[in-house]
Amino acid sequence: MLKRIVSTLALVSIIALVCFFFVAGRLMDQRMNVCLHIDDEDYSISPKAKAIQQEALIADWHSDLLLWDRSVLNRATHGHTDLPRLIEGNFTLQVFDAVIKTPKGQNYERNNGETDNITLLAAANRWPIKSWTNLTERALYQSYKLHKAERESNGQLKIVRSSVDLETIIKQKTDSLVVVGGLLSIEGLHALEGQIENVDRLYDAGYRMFGLVHFFDNKVGGSSAGEEQYGLTPFGEEVISAMLEKNIIIDLAHSSSQLIDDVLAYTDSPVVVSHTGVMGTYNSPRNLSDEHIRRIAERGGMIGVGFWDGAVGSPDPKNIVNAIKYIAELVGVDHICLGSDWDGGTTTYFDAAHIGLLIDELIEANFSKEEIEKIIGGNQIDFLLQHLPVD
Ligand SMILES: [Zn+2]
Repeated sequence: MLKRIVSTLALVSIIALVCFFFVAGRLMDQRMNVCLHIDDEDYSISPKAKAIQQEALIADWHSDLLLWDRSVLNRATHGHTDLPRLIEGNFTLQVFDAVIKTPKGQNYERNNGETDNITLLAAANRWPIKSWTNLTERALYQSYKLHKAERESNGQLKIVRSSVDLETIIKQKTDSLVVVGGLLSIEGLHALEGQIENVDRLYDAGYRMFGLVHFFDNKVGGSSAGEEQYGLTPFGEEVISAMLEKNIIIDLAHSSSQLIDDVLAYTDSPVVVSHTGVMGTYNSPRNLSDEHIRRIAERGGMIGVGFWDGAVGSPDPKNIVNAIKYIAELVGVDHICLGSDWDGGTTTYFDAAHIGLLIDELIEANFSKEEIEKIIGGNQIDFLLQHLPVD
């Protein structure tokens, strides 16, 4: 009898462990990353949109794919980005950012850094044990995932570390080679664990853009969803100086209003806001004010417009285009980019393969071919060619 109870308990434990390590993370991914239009059968775009999609250099500032227990190289039936879908969409470049730590009950108003969803997810997704407790290790592991995918991609995925890398990809694409660039970014500099030396470690791991904060205030600065929403700290100033020295791009997405002001006062360098909406079309605490849009544009910065409800009101492509139109009227099209937040626990209308739907919507809104090409990637590519380390 006792033997039977013990073996039943052992079996139940094994099943529970298998579920935790091989099912829980995947279910969470499927539940949280939803694409409303993933069906190829009723997908059609205008010949004009198709022509633009074929000719343009398409790019996007923000995908969280590396967080999930999902292959970069195989096409999934949920979510928004993977190499096959980026190739089908004719992407030149996708920025992959490492999510480091997110608070329980995460919201756009007020969070602190005391709780963390990613510890359990890192364990469920079988990340190395040191990444369960160390935030720098989480960034290093997500970089490892993209490098492994690059090695196994038969040359179709190339990690971009320099402007020369990006030029090479553009040249290869002009020669009709199938290749997509991937640029590594961090979402929240709690990834530094308070150690300035980790700027170098993350740079060496391939990271070329750092988002200063995520959903809570950290040692570098305040978040738009933090408890105090303060500005740039003395440690933050030290970090920005170290970043500028290495030409690491500054991403102000999720930053508190005070942090944006402080960074713009601390340096004249152009900055990126990788995934955002604008208060002018959707009043959310994480969206950009007119004043910040103007000041970021004045210094040659880039604004990535998000595809999800929290940025533009609903995933309807018309809302994305409304935000784009608003920025264009305020500062012109030269500062507008795509900042999807694909696979960021978001519901979007289309995935990378079906980016043509957005092109059609931009045509509908009377943007010219040249303007559309800038918005869907030209601006981002030009910015990166100018501001990435040369080699
Ligand atoms: Zn984000």
